[in-house]
Amino acid sequence: MTAQVEQQVIDSVPKDLLVGGQWRPAGKGTTLAVHDPSTGDALCEVADASPDDGLDALAAASEAQPDWAAHPPRERAEILRRAYQALMDRQDDLALLMTLEMGKPVAESRTEIAYAAEFLRWFSEEASRIEGSYKIAPAGGSRLLTMRQPVGPCLLITPWNFPMAMGTRKIGPAVAAGCTMVIKPASETPLSMLALAKVLEECGLPPGVLNVLTTSSSGEVMEPLIRDPRSRKLSFTGSTAVGRALVEQSAQQLLRVSMELGGNAPFLVFGDADLDAAVEGAVTAKMRNIGEACTAANRFLVHESVADAFSRRLADRMGSMRMGRGTEEGVQVGPLINEGARAGVAELVADAADRGGTVLVGGEVPSGPGWFYPPTVLADVPRGARVFQEEIFGPVAPVTTFGTDEEALALANGTEFGLIAYAYTTDLRRALTVAEGLESGLVGLNAGVISNPAAPFGGVKASGFGREGGREGIEEYLEVKYVGLAM
Ligand code: NAP
Repeated sequence: MTAQVEQQVIDSVPKDLLVGGQWRPAGKGTTLAVHDPSTGDALCEVADASPDDGLDALAAASEAQPDWAAHPPRERAEILRRAYQALMDRQDDLALLMTLEMGKPVAESRTEIAYAAEFLRWFSEEASRIEGSYKIAPAGGSRLLTMRQPVGPCLLITPWNFPMAMGTRKIGPAVAAGCTMVIKPASETPLSMLALAKVLEECGLPPGVLNVLTTSSSGEVMEPLIRDPRSRKLSFTGSTAVGRALVEQSAQQLLRVSMELGGNAPFLVFGDADLDAAVEGAVTAKMRNIGEACTAANRFLVHESVADAFSRRLADRMGSMRMGRGTEEGVQVGPLINEGARAGVAELVADAADRGGTVLVGGEVPSGPGWFYPPTVLADVPRGARVFQEEIFGPVAPVTTFGTDEEALALANGTEFGLIAYAYTTDLRRALTVAEGLESGLVGLNAGVISNPAAPFGGVKASGFGREGGREGIEEYLEVKYVGLAM
């Protein structure tokens, strides 16, 4: 990939805020720098919104709401369908852009663009299937009608790890339902969202429906909007700590709230598992997105009869993965998002080793530019190690053992989080018993990745509430109105 091609892709993206259909600089003219995590170098500057810019964006969303809600569902659907196609047509350029600002290998960025686009296609298909009901009251004498209406202006906040898919998972259903919105991407990765907004604009999304705020002051800009009576809904994807604070803020206006928060996924390997499949699934569940995924396997819980073989094979596979700048051909492991993220991962590994865990592969911070951390497998990790309590968000796989199914389930559920759990077994009865017993919103059975726009994604416990994708995804953006009719 030449530097010239990279520059062209960066130059093609608007760098301003999108407010009421106008691309405009921040009111105070301020900008923030976007960095390439594989070098630490600045790529470009984008507008750095202030609280006043935030209020302008909400005013635009609020003003556009009545008209947008009145748009025929088919028109809303067709905008989404065109945007799906436009993302697929520009998949290569958008993938390169994502890799430059986020670091993941360009092949994974391509996969994310396709995944992101699928949410637009899925919700384009849902837009004209928003239904109500009609029934005769059980005691007779009246008719009971229900209708579904858009909830109103939405505030959407997305993280840096899936810079486009976390956006389309919210924008798709909001557009389909007839809601307007203000979206705030993470300051680490604003370019993918700006590119997406331009695509949606070109595909006919009317002014004011989607407003985009890029800012280095997330809290200062978003809190007044969350407390503003014009907002009706908050959908947040990010860390549990920030999610908790935003739920408190949203109490003032009693907003409809969806929270897609952190995880601490257990990956269970039973004694009867197909070990080849389990190792492959483990590599996917751990290494997708360089381990920087809420769905990343965080704790490998392996039956004592297969733990040694599993750990060795996982170490062989992860140790042979090629690390480098995500734009280079054949690279499978990119850099972590920033210096702080890498230092956090290194600390967790040091803690596990200090407590007696064995580093089978990796574990050394490489020299040179960029925030690289190598794929690392830790065996015999004591259960009290921090790496089992905290979300690692990096390419580190700690392994511990269990003896019985009951012990496996108790270990798996022994966390405040409950987003996803993985289980490998060839016994159908065990698979279903475990799936029923796991305290998580999602379960991967003999599968290392299960995310799909047609399925409801979301967590329980401290991983949040609400669902994105599937039939359920659009419900988050609709209110049910009941109309009683005397006869
Ligand atoms: P984060 O620090 O919570 O940030 C997420 C978003 O919130 C970013 O846009 C961030 O902007 C913004 N933000 C931070 N503080 C805020 C505040 N006080 N008010 C309003 N917005 C604020 O999380 P992250 O480090 O970007 O993302 C990683 C986390 O997301 C992990 O815990 C991961 O598990 C979780 N995640 C969950 C899902 C899911 O579906 N459950 C999916 C992906 C990721 P700035 O960064 O610019 O401040």
